[in-house]
Amino acid sequence: MSSVLRVALPVPLPTLFDYLPPTTGEAKAGSRVLVPFGRSKAVGVVVETDVPTNVGSTRLKRALRVLDETPLLDAELMQTLAWAADYWLGAPGEAYANALPLLLREDKPLPETGEPIWQLTTAGRSALDAGSRRGGSRALLQALSTRPLSAAELDALITDWRAAARRLIEAGLIERGEQTPSPASAPSFTAPVLHTEQKAAVDAVTESFGRFQPFLLDGITGSGKTEVYLALIERTLAQGKQSLLLVPEIGLAPQTVRRLRERLGVPIEVLHSNLAEGERARAWLRMRSGEAKVVLGTRSAVFTPLPHAGLIIVDEEHDGSYKQQEGFRYHARDLALVRARALNVPVLLGSATPSLESLANVEAGRYHALHLRSRPSAAHPPQVQIVDMRAQRLEHGLSPALLHVVGETVARGEQVLVFRNRRGYAPVLFCHGCGWHAECPRCEHPLTLHAAWWRLVCHHCDQQSPVPPTCPVCGSTELKPQGQGTERLEEALTAHFPQIPVLRIDRETTRRRDAFEQLLDNLQTDAPAILVGTQMLAKGHDLPNLTLVAIVGVDEGLLSVDFRAGERLAQLVVQVAGRAGRARKPGRVLLQTHHPDHPLLRGLLAQGYAAAAKELLAERRQTGLPPYGHQVLLRCEAHQRATVDAFLSEARAALPDTDTLQIAGPMPAPMPLRAGRQRGQLLIESTTRRHLHAATRPWSTQLAQLPSARKVRWSLDVDPIDL
Ligand code: ADP
Ligand code: ZN
Ligand code: ZN
Repeated sequence: MSSVLRVALPVPLPTLFDYLPPTTGEAKAGSRVLVPFGRSKAVGVVVETDVPTNVGSTRLKRALRVLDETPLLDAELMQTLAWAADYWLGAPGEAYANALPLLLREDKPLPETGEPIWQLTTAGRSALDAGSRRGGSRALLQALSTRPLSAAELDALITDWRAAARRLIEAGLIERGEQTPSPASAPSFTAPVLHTEQKAAVDAVTESFGRFQPFLLDGITGSGKTEVYLALIERTLAQGKQSLLLVPEIGLAPQTVRRLRERLGVPIEVLHSNLAEGERARAWLRMRSGEAKVVLGTRSAVFTPLPHAGLIIVDEEHDGSYKQQEGFRYHARDLALVRARALNVPVLLGSATPSLESLANVEAGRYHALHLRSRPSAAHPPQVQIVDMRAQRLEHGLSPALLHVVGETVARGEQVLVFRNRRGYAPVLFCHGCGWHAECPRCEHPLTLHAAWWRLVCHHCDQQSPVPPTCPVCGSTELKPQGQGTERLEEALTAHFPQIPVLRIDRETTRRRDAFEQLLDNLQTDAPAILVGTQMLAKGHDLPNLTLVAIVGVDEGLLSVDFRAGERLAQLVVQVAGRAGRARKPGRVLLQTHHPDHPLLRGLLAQGYAAAAKELLAERRQTGLPPYGHQVLLRCEAHQRATVDAFLSEARAALPDTDTLQIAGPMPAPMPLRAGRQRGQLLIESTTRRHLHAATRPWSTQLAQLPSARKVRWSLDVDPIDL
């Protein structure tokens, strides 16, 4: 018997890998090791050491080298990652890989955490004074004569200074140094005096410093949630502790970063996917060393080491971008709670439209609710008006009434945002004459239109029916699948308003952050424009001249097969209205729908989000859906429908036969065909999470061994947010 290292390798396999310890160096849990893997090498993370093994040592390979003398991942992160891999039924190696910035997954020395700078040596100063150098070298010496400069500063001054730098370093005239990140500047903005509710929120969280306590900060847009975060981060800093502030993908506007930097007067580490890899790795390492105290980041920043943790905040906690939708499908908000518990710190979830999950946690007494009900700026959120589009002559999905108001707005020189519901829903067949839509008689759930076969399918019970030739209610022949892309909207608006610039805001345009900021800067003027988008403008993107928001495409949300669609729609309407209320001029929100009397819309507009959410929660409780029930979704795709069905049937057969689980499927996915691949799914539900995990944990490893698994692509999603 010998003892081995158990190593997590970044591969999508449900196992850890055993290696003999390297001949030199001590591998500790949390350290990275270089190991032989297949025909090449891989960098993995040591999960366990001294594991007894029965495998003969001749069959085991030996780890090549230890990369970290002190573990890169501390005990808390290791424990959290093990928990996460188990909970989300992920490949353990992928969970560990997610936690590390790309650069740290390579067999390379850790990058210096300071920013490299170039400075003159004494010999360099003499050379400069003697005027002995010419050309690029001289220009560089000159540039460095007053103070050391960073690469970014040099880039701005001299083209191709790097060649000159190499020559001068060789000649001993300049040297490379390292500067600690931008020295703390004194806070340049003083905090506003907190109003009563803000103060109460700050005090409540402060009282919980040093122990685990979740809070839900429920406050309308503009009620001052960010001020609460800032005050709490200040107090955490005063105790010498670290803060982690998570924001949704779209929330990370440069304005937000600037606001934090100006207010806190300390370096703020920023972590998001658009950052250069070196920057990401450095920010991560500075938090790990404790040198940095505040980190602001999107989803994956939840894995930042927090050796001196004081506080975790999740802004816009309801936002779907916290859920990773591929590979290791974790939820950053949920993981933030797990970390807060392990680190013994309070965790604050903020939103104007809290998720039903968080509201249920408040209801169950697990979270403490804090409310901000007033707006310091006294700007009133605009009223939302419904535009009934039944039996109207539509122009690419836009009703005459809506186009009329858009026309009036741009004629006044103001700007309009035409906002289309974000998600691509499965197409539903509906009647343009009266708003009727095809429903399953057994489930009272919208039927999905499968255009390829021209059939209606129920995603609950799998019943299929032919498409009726006319509307069974009003007899109209105008039965159409619902769905309008933003491109079509953009085209239609351009054609209708040829004089007015029409700009599309989507994933592409917002990904190129600089271009997007530029675009928004151009809109600061008083010139008319129409924006079309599926994405919310982030905090800080206040367009003073934007006075109308038109929301279209909500009907797909009302009729969606996805049970979360109603919640999302309510959040969207409230969030959009909140944003529109920020302009100097009074704002207006129009909601175009075929269902002006839908109870969700009626309730939302008459009584607001809290009341609508309460209704939705009651429905979920009645139907046993999340957060009152729990789900695991097995997705599968392949070129042939038969291959998909074979795998899903085998998978279903491999599940234990118990009445604690409800199984739906195999059935086609809501989008049954994507990119030429047939897609199907199997949904496993239970009222107790314990039962669900007890059954799916062993099942998840079994799936990989099914003979039919090799012919398909499959994945498991625990607590899926898209069904
Ligand atoms: P939220 O994050 O809830 O949308 P913010 O914190 O961004 O709200 O606050 C909205 C606006 O109100 C900001 O311009 C902020 O500076 C201002 N504000 C917030 N709290 C106060 C306060 N106590 N006194 C004065 N202004 C405030
Ligand atoms: Zn009809
Ligand atoms: Zn049905």
